[in-house]
Amino acid sequence: MVLDDLGSSLRGTLDDLRGKSRIDKADVDEVVKQIQRSLLQADVDVGLVMGLSDSIKDRALNEEPVAGTTARDQVLKIVYEEMVGLVGDSTEIPLESQTIMLAGLQGSGKTTTAAKIAWWFSKKGLRPAVIQTDTFRPGAYDQAKQMCERAEVDFYGDPDGNDPVEIAREGLEATADAEVHIVDTAGRHALESDLIDEIEEIDTVVDPDLSLLVLDAAIGQGAKQQAQEFEESIGVGGVIITKLDGTAKGGGALTAVNETESSIAFLGTGETVQDIERFEPNGFISRLLG
Ligand code: GDP
Repeated sequence: MVLDDLGSSLRGTLDDLRGKSRIDKADVDEVVKQIQRSLLQADVDVGLVMGLSDSIKDRALNEEPVAGTTARDQVLKIVYEEMVGLVGDSTEIPLESQTIMLAGLQGSGKTTTAAKIAWWFSKKGLRPAVIQTDTFRPGAYDQAKQMCERAEVDFYGDPDGNDPVEIAREGLEATADAEVHIVDTAGRHALESDLIDEIEEIDTVVDPDLSLLVLDAAIGQGAKQQAQEFEESIGVGGVIITKLDGTAKGGGALTAVNETESSIAFLGTGETVQDIERFEPNGFISRLLG
């Protein structure tokens, strides 16, 4: 991690340690305070922040620095390693035939993300298809269809259908030529039992290799309950954070990662089909601390 990636106040605090060969408790407390401030501002759960703080303090005060390492470099190394532990590695996405199902609340960005992921796979040389099973939200069909046309990927949906499970079944058949199936599901304004029942039924029919929970970067503490419920009903293999082109830093999504013992797969960075990135710990850490 380069120092430039850190927030300016943290960078300054670490730079103050430059001349020191040994770090004391007051120094560590100051560094940890800066990190806590940034992470809490970025919506990271307070419990996660406290756990991280304890680990950094413990290691910084007890680990013997490698010979020749300055106190500053030693602390920087520990902070970096602990931050990587907090945000995790990117969800593994094999470049092979597979079925991915998207889950999340209405407005989280599922439909947009389905087309984006399809575009991403098509750029990797695989043939994707999006299956739109959201019969709940007016406009979901048209939106998905248009985005898939823009992404130049196969699309299946039924504008007159009202049985998402049936649409999922038909969609898989109709797009049998595709290598990667991306199944979009309906969201709700809040977690309602009919939503959970519906997605469980779709899950049974689709039998996805991977279910990804789509979360708006501004999610904050609401992530916990959503993650728990979707984990219990369909099993969450990874998280997607959308709308990272806005001001929200997406730290709340780490709660979902923690709750589901999963990792972050993709980041959404805009409204068009190309605005998708694979999650990469370094960039995300800089963003959280910046
Ligand atoms: P769904 O209800 O979960 O299917 O959500 P949509 O895909 O319809 O997205 C809801 C709104 O968020 C739409 O206006 C999208 O254009 C917008 N959106 C989705 N992803 C992103 C993103 O990464 N950045 C921005 N700025 N907007 C996004």
